[in-house]
Amino acid sequence: MSGKSYTEHSISLRNLINLIRSMGTISERTISAIESVPRHLFVTEALWHKAYEDMTLPTSDGQTISQPTIVARMTELLDVQSGMKVLEIGTGSGYQGAILAQLTKNVFTIERIGSLAAKARQRFRELGLNTVICREGDGTKGIPDKAPFDRIIVTAGAPVVPDSLLEQLAMNGKMVIPTGPREGQVLERYTKTATGIVHEQFEPLLFVPLIGDEGWKQ
Ligand code: SAM
Repeated sequence: MSGKSYTEHSISLRNLINLIRSMGTISERTISAIESVPRHLFVTEALWHKAYEDMTLPTSDGQTISQPTIVARMTELLDVQSGMKVLEIGTGSGYQGAILAQLTKNVFTIERIGSLAAKARQRFRELGLNTVICREGDGTKGIPDKAPFDRIIVTAGAPVVPDSLLEQLAMNGKMVIPTGPREGQVLERYTKTATGIVHEQFEPLLFVPLIGDEGWKQ
């Protein structure tokens, strides 16, 4: 049991939001989306006391819920506008998906581990986020029947950018993805333009591996 009251969660959330704001690079729109999502509801009760610390936390099946400042950074780079169709690869706890749902009502998220997808679906339901569609499957192949997507965010470390995801990106669409070796990746953004793909690289980070046909083998 966490022993934390609702008020204590609110205070911890406020401290986390202050930390994110102090980064100086995150828009108020992204901050307000993060502020709307109670992170403690995405981890087991035994971890509630750590839910608003800036740290990666374990979910079941050896997976993780990303660090809040990384979630803020990736959400900001993704630049989701209202009405855009967004695809997230790696639903995990559902936390990032819930934040995306504050920015647009058109969110698809896909998770390869069935039990995580089921738990995330339940959380979306409980939070009234009925517009988020959560599928179970290999996200390296995207969701061809729902493509193209205005935005794609990959929340697991890929060896290289999956071709299927680039193909499913709409014109002027953006994809944010960590790529590189399993021991450490670089945050990247790919933008599809009429004259080709624009590629940007940002800071190093570390994610659990993206496992699938166009990712790492198990
Ligand atoms: N976005 C999540 C959240 O907010 O809790 C955190 C994602 S966690 C760092 C990475 C997730 O990617 C894991 O749940 C893992 O099972 C999932 N994953 C790895 N490879 C995948 C694939 N090919 N397709 C879909 N999900 C995948």
